[in-house]
Amino acid sequence: MACSDSMLKDRFRGCLLGLAVGDALGGRFEAKAAEHIRARFPTPAALFAYPDDELWYTDDTQMAIGVAEALTAHGEIIEEHLCRAFVSNYVPSRGYGRGARVVLDTMEEGGDYQAVAEKHFPGGSYGNGAAMRVAPVGLMFRDERQQLWEQARRSALPTHRHPLGIEGAQLLALAVSFASHTCRFDREAFFADLLGACESEEYRAKLQSAAEVKTPADLVGLGNRIEALHSVPTSIAAFALTPESFEETVGNLILLGGDTDTLAAMGGAISGAYLGERQLPGRLVGLLETSPKGGAYLGQLADELFSAYERRFRQPSPA
Ligand SMILES: [Mg+2]
Repeated sequence: MACSDSMLKDRFRGCLLGLAVGDALGGRFEAKAAEHIRARFPTPAALFAYPDDELWYTDDTQMAIGVAEALTAHGEIIEEHLCRAFVSNYVPSRGYGRGARVVLDTMEEGGDYQAVAEKHFPGGSYGNGAAMRVAPVGLMFRDERQQLWEQARRSALPTHRHPLGIEGAQLLALAVSFASHTCRFDREAFFADLLGACESEEYRAKLQSAAEVKTPADLVGLGNRIEALHSVPTSIAAFALTPESFEETVGNLILLGGDTDTLAAMGGAISGAYLGERQLPGRLVGLLETSPKGGAYLGQLADELFSAYERRFRQPSPA
C-alpha cells in the first residue's frame, strides 16, 4: 500500500467515519443472534449491500464526537470539559445503556455523577463504553505512548472506573495509534505491541488468543458481549484478520451478533485509521445521516482533530 505522511489527514477522517459507519450499520442488528443475522446476510458483502437509506449512528459515535470535540478544544482530556461535551451531545434515544443514562442524566443536572456511577457499577463499570469512544485519543496521542495510555484512562473515568473497562479503552486507543502509523500491516508487530502494553493477565490471555485467529469463525470464541474484555480483543482480532478490507473487518464483527454496534464501531475505527477515508466504502459513508452532527460534521471534526494534533505535536511546516 502506498503510504506517506500526506495520508495522515485521510486516516484521521477514515477513523472517525469508519467508526460511525460501523456503529450505524451494526446498530441495526444490536442484540440480535448471529444465526438471525446470517440467515439474511450470509457474508459481509451482502451486509454492506443492504442499506439504501440514511445510516443513523448510536451512542458510540455520539460519545466519540464528545471525546474528539474535547480534544480539539483543549488538546488533552480534562474531565470537566469532557463531561460537558458528553452532556451537550447527549440524546438518550441513541441507544445508551441504562447505567450510562443515569450517569449522564446526573451530569446534565450538575449532580455527583461519580457517586451515581459508583452506585450503579460498584467497583466501576467494565463495559466497553469507554473503548467504543476512545479512538480520537488514539489519533491525537499516536506519537506519545505514555500520554496515550494516560489520556485514554482519563477519557474512560467519567463512566468507567473498573481496571478492565479502562484497559480496554487503552488497548483500543493503542490499536488505533498503531494502525495510523503503519503502511504495510505487520500482524506480529501489532500483537507484540499490544501484548507489551497489557497490564492484566485477563487481557494478555485474550490478546494471545486474538493473535491466533485465522478465520472469521475463530472470532466467536473471543466474545461479542458488552464487557470490554469480551469485545475489545474481538474487534482488534477482526481488524488483524482482514486489515486490507474495511468491509470484511466490520462485516465479520456484525455477523457475530450480540453487541454489534460497538464491535463494529471499534473495528471500524481501527480499520479506518489504517486504510484512510479513501479506502472506506464510499456508498455507506455517503449514507451517513445528514443531521447537524452527521457524516459531513464527522469529516470536519476529523480535520479539526488533525489540526489540533499538528499544533500540539508538530512544528508548523514552512508556508
Ligand atoms: Mg451503541
